[in-house]
Amino acid sequence: MAEITPMDKIVSLCKRRGFVFPSSEIYGGLGAIYDYGHYGTLLKNNIRDAWWKAMTQMRDDVVGLDSAIFMHPKTWAASGHIDSFEDPQVDCKKCKSRFRADHILEEFGIGADKMPVDSINKELDKLRKEKKLKCANCGSTELTEARRFSLMVKSNLGSPTDELKEENVVYLRPETCGGIYLEYKNTLDSTRMKLPFGIAQVGKAFRNEIVARQFIFRTREFEQMEMQYFLHPDQMKEKYAMWKDLRWQWYFEYGMSENDIRWYKHKKLAHYASEAYDVEFNFKSLGGFKEIEGIHARGNWDLSQHSKFSGVDLAYFDEKTKEKFIPHIMETSAGLNRLFLMFIDQAYTEETIGENETRMVLKLDRRLAPIKIAIFPLLKNKPELVAKAREVYDSVKSKFMCEFDDNGNIGKRYRRQDEIGTPYCVTIDFETLEKGAVTVRDRDTMKQESVKVEDLNEYFKEKLVK
Ligand code: ATP
Repeated sequence: MAEITPMDKIVSLCKRRGFVFPSSEIYGGLGAIYDYGHYGTLLKNNIRDAWWKAMTQMRDDVVGLDSAIFMHPKTWAASGHIDSFEDPQVDCKKCKSRFRADHILEEFGIGADKMPVDSINKELDKLRKEKKLKCANCGSTELTEARRFSLMVKSNLGSPTDELKEENVVYLRPETCGGIYLEYKNTLDSTRMKLPFGIAQVGKAFRNEIVARQFIFRTREFEQMEMQYFLHPDQMKEKYAMWKDLRWQWYFEYGMSENDIRWYKHKKLAHYASEAYDVEFNFKSLGGFKEIEGIHARGNWDLSQHSKFSGVDLAYFDEKTKEKFIPHIMETSAGLNRLFLMFIDQAYTEETIGENETRMVLKLDRRLAPIKIAIFPLLKNKPELVAKAREVYDSVKSKFMCEFDDNGNIGKRYRRQDEIGTPYCVTIDFETLEKGAVTVRDRDTMKQESVKVEDLNEYFKEKLVK
């Protein structure tokens, strides 16, 4: 029997407990597209809110934006996406599997980031001659040359009777920052922001990824959490270091340790960039460190290009120094779905309890847990217990995301809540009716304590609100 991998366990948990489902499953699924169920939506929203709080609520120098997915087609001509947002693709002639050529080279220790296709093919030829080039799926040596494959996803707007003429082609945005550049001027004119300042946004992005077999790590529809920080070039060094540090600390605040994350410094930079680092997380489910967020110093290329293509002057005038210049940009760009996988990967724990029982528990940070408190009547068939449990539930649910559960024995209910990462379970029993006290059980320690019903809200405020 095939070994059950850490990824198998996570995929199974996500489906079984309603975190993530393959999209359109009743029609056989749709490659690399996923839906988020009840607990998945709650967890994703909590991660998004934690990012948003750190990036806007806690900062005087960052404002928010929610720009449209569709943008004027010239946006992507200006940014260079139409010409060059592509990956090199290789196919196996025998089993028709598809691979990213740069990933194949990287497996042989050849850095292929931003390598032109001609050079990639030369490297592939060398491996072919050394008889090292084989299909990872079927072992065949019959692999095609690398070809450029655009990641842009096309759509059309306008009259549905029009065929997809060139002028009707619009693209689903491949990253959210495009909207930020286009709204830079409106944001500047409508807020009291002065340089340096940032614009943050969370939203969907679409990429026609060649290879997408790593569950929600790499999908064709995903969400990004991006912040573009506009500044004078003299401020870049200091602000880059500041944001690098802030983003690093954010991961620690939400439970990561030195063993979990590391920096990757890009060796090859885009022609306009001066510095680029990625945060990488050590995924158990993916067998090692992979990118979760990029922090890039992008020069003034983005706003210069949009100035040029739109004919609108996007230069900034500094009232104090009387200097006029196109702002430089540093960005932080994280994938929300990748962080979702990261948090589940890190929280997934199997513990042996008693003789030979295994407890599966998601040790998520309490602020991220989908459900904060589960409320149980000890017995389902005792109306007085159920009524009291409902009363307790009603008194806490307006403050915390709660769940009422009277299904199965208490042990089963604990397991169910452990698997979705609920930090606290509250049981209403006969003592509650007699003495007004409930039993609160802690997810991580499994310790139980007695708390008076009237003290519950205060108790949880202390435990759950930071
Ligand atoms: P990769 O090298 O993994 O393809 P990238 O360098 O192209 O990623 P960026 O364009 O820098 O990624 O995007 C910023 C972030 O968006 C990434 O760090 C990642 O978290 C997320 N992201 C990018 N592509 C995808 C995808 N196809 N699915 C899910 N998340 C993605």
